[in-house]
Amino acid sequence: MTSGHVHSYETLGALDGPGLRLVIFLQGCPLRCCYCHNPDTWETAAGQPTSVADISQRIRRFMPYFGRRGGVTLSGGEPLLQAAFCLEILRECQRLGVHSAIDTGGGVWNDVCRQATDLADIVILDIKAANAELWQAVTGRDAFSTLLQLIADFRASQRPVWVRQVVAKGLNDSPEAMRDLAALVAGLNIERMELLPYHEMGRSKWDKLGLDYAANHLQPPTPDLLADLQKVLAALRGC
Ligand code: SF4
Repeated sequence: MTSGHVHSYETLGALDGPGLRLVIFLQGCPLRCCYCHNPDTWETAAGQPTSVADISQRIRRFMPYFGRRGGVTLSGGEPLLQAAFCLEILRECQRLGVHSAIDTGGGVWNDVCRQATDLADIVILDIKAANAELWQAVTGRDAFSTLLQLIADFRASQRPVWVRQVVAKGLNDSPEAMRDLAALVAGLNIERMELLPYHEMGRSKWDKLGLDYAANHLQPPTPDLLADLQKVLAALRGC
């Protein structure tokens, strides 16, 4: 059985997919988001080497708590960086009859990633920015075309997705940014769409790792601003 590197677990999380979930944070990420709240997941070779059998045992321990809607979410880091490992965990979820989700930033995409996302019940797509220039500014990587390919495939397959975007003042707190986002995700089979407020809770981890926090230029949006942007986005999407 395949094994991989796990950063950590969150038991009975309620934010990353429907119901109560076992969230498995996988190690490694190809992006370097300026506001990342998990920079300790970046290094691919770190984390705890873990077998699918170990994870299966953990899933089975928490199955009684999942209820009708809950299940397992693979997050990170970027879980699809370990796509073969994801695929095996998702097969195990399917075998156990457990609902599964993958939370991806869309920074990596290939045939194995496609197989893994095909198998997940829900994909949570965290869109860092909705145009190439801003995406590179947020992620530190010139790979917007990878996200575009992923979106094109999801549009063709009509697989269910939850779409998320972090909103920060000084980054994407404008109607224009909402217009770009609505255009980017048009035609996807979106079950849920969320704008999440930027927060600074990751700053202490950057400090601990000896890294200079890269989002000093950003500020959290006020609740009113976020609500206004949500209305703009809903109107643009015709909701
Ligand atoms: S994709 Fe997630 S884990 Fe990776 S750098 Fe961005 S915020 Fe951090």
